[in-house]
Amino acid sequence: MDYLQTNDIQDIVEQERVNVWHHLSQHKQYETSDPRIIVEGKGMRVWDQNGKEHLDAVSGGVWTVNVGYGRESIANAVRDQLVKMNYFAGSAGSIPGSIFSEMLLSKMPGLSRVYYANSGSEANEKVYKMVRQISHKHHGGKKSKILYRERDYHGTTIANLSAGGQEERNAQYGPFTPGFVMVPHCMEYRRQTPDGDYGKYCVDQIEAVILREGADTIGAIVLEPVTAGGGVITPPEGYWEGVQALCKKYDILLHIDEVVCGVGRTGTWFGYQQYGIKPDFVTMAKGVASGYAAISCAVTTEAVFDMFKDDTDPLSYFRDISTFGGCTAGPAAAIENMKIIEAEGLLDNTTQMGEYLMGKLSELQDKHAVIGDVRGKGLFVGAELVSDRKSRAPVDEKLVQAVVGNCMQQGVIIGATNRSVPGFNNTLCLSPALISTRDDLDQLCDAIDNALTSVFS
Ligand code: PMP
Repeated sequence: MDYLQTNDIQDIVEQERVNVWHHLSQHKQYETSDPRIIVEGKGMRVWDQNGKEHLDAVSGGVWTVNVGYGRESIANAVRDQLVKMNYFAGSAGSIPGSIFSEMLLSKMPGLSRVYYANSGSEANEKVYKMVRQISHKHHGGKKSKILYRERDYHGTTIANLSAGGQEERNAQYGPFTPGFVMVPHCMEYRRQTPDGDYGKYCVDQIEAVILREGADTIGAIVLEPVTAGGGVITPPEGYWEGVQALCKKYDILLHIDEVVCGVGRTGTWFGYQQYGIKPDFVTMAKGVASGYAAISCAVTTEAVFDMFKDDTDPLSYFRDISTFGGCTAGPAAAIENMKIIEAEGLLDNTTQMGEYLMGKLSELQDKHAVIGDVRGKGLFVGAELVSDRKSRAPVDEKLVQAVVGNCMQQGVIIGATNRSVPGFNNTLCLSPALISTRDDLDQLCDAIDNALTSVFS
């Protein structure tokens, strides 16, 4: 491919600067600095336009490339599939879609139907539509509200922002879709009540919202198993048992957003499996094909699926389509991605390396008073930076960015939680690929150690 052989990297950078609108970027900065282009990747490492090597501790920026870069078996599987049959949509299925559904459902006991789409946002929208349709078909249109949680994120579309608990992301994009109602976050480190059983307190708060709104108006609740971009928030003890019990008591469908946690990130196939949750819907995207092709899935139970069967009204089926949900590259890549995770024992590796990483960060916490809290599950870890451990006052966001920048100079890419909300914008986010070794994590923690020393002393 000619474009891969190019020596004119400065031309490419210039084209990027003048033609491309980058995601999540303030372009004013590119008047004085070059936009970054990642040119190549292998395993845990990527190379930029200047040939500089980086250890990628964020799996492609946003928790995606779970099996690492340069996987020829995935590329070959996609190539073979595209030459045979690249695309057919509408009501037709495909061979890789069918095979992947069987593989996927074998990892998800109790769930039995896979609906294909191509982004996390889209998969979540599918579920909102299913919930609304169930309300129309079975509850006279009344049970249509959807609860969501403060600090959770479910996607970039207006309906997903309406279900989004990060006000800093939403502020400029209203008005929003009606029918989404927020419940409070469950972040123990920033708990709103000083004493008592925090898990129960959070569950009681959700119940108070249900009673305020009326249980007969609420169709579903959507939650991340571990909140990702909102602060790497692991749930308190007893939280999930309580949520599950509320769903049963008030006949509310439980929608688990596994777009980040799904397909190995926490050390089990799905994050909900860490907590014994029995979901009615599970959505997933990023790790499903590790970014080798676009694919997302909304998975549900036979009981939900059955609610859409009807021989009295021929138009009462789920009236939804995803044009690119018919691309075969996605499931072809997903099959190979799942085979790699199994063949290389990456779930166990994630659990072991996750514990190793948490241990190393705890050592850094002993050394650097600025680390107030370390939390996570598997290779999905956050280190929260505070200016005072007692008051837990967050460090200035600029200092968090300085740590990220310092690591970058050392050739290590780390992330930080979303900006602008004091108390939630001060967490370093680490999500290296599931293939991480001790050496990789040592390099990562050494870089953080150096960065903290350099920024805070
Ligand atoms: N849910 C969660 C938990 C996410 O973190 C994201 C993306 N960061 C999404 C949904 C949306 O996924 P996408 O960007 O593929 O639409």
